[in-house]
Amino acid sequence: MADVPAPLTLVESFLNSIDVESGLDDLRDLATFRRWLADHDRPAPADEADLDLARRLRAELRAETATHHDPPEQAGHRSRDALDALSVRIPLAVRFAPDGAAVPAPAGTGVTAVLGEVLAAVALAAHDGSWRRMKICPADDCRWVYYDASRNSSRRWCSMRVCGNRNKTRTYRQRTAPA
Ligand SMILES: [Zn+2]
Repeated sequence: MADVPAPLTLVESFLNSIDVESGLDDLRDLATFRRWLADHDRPAPADEADLDLARRLRAELRAETATHHDPPEQAGHRSRDALDALSVRIPLAVRFAPDGAAVPAPAGTGVTAVLGEVLAAVALAAHDGSWRRMKICPADDCRWVYYDASRNSSRRWCSMRVCGNRNKTRTYRQRTAPA
């Protein structure tokens, strides 16, 4: 999606690795998960535990984006215990950039490094406010995660165009198909 800021592109792709409308799930088994990783230039020797961790993290982060439709004072009603329990399994470290900036960065290997990239991007985005703009379409047959770039952060649906013409699956598959 063109609206997604560069630091959140992997997050957006990870959260949309399941397509509710078509039922296609890039994390449905190890073979498809490994292909998803390779398609995103992050080949990793994934095993069943990695796949399980990735699925759980995706589910929790997708549930988190659903709270972004609410005013900030209401977004605190969801339990983050499950999310916390997952995130301790994904090592992060503080990295210091040449300009002195200190940022979270993945400290694991293989799949935990990829999931660490996702978590680090979420942490940074939570800090600069852009994470709250990652929202999930409330249509039951859509549930597409999108970035709300509207001025007052009031966009409720993924896109009338995308949701309307039902081409997103095809577009998405074309975008992520192996070269
Ligand atoms: Zn939608």
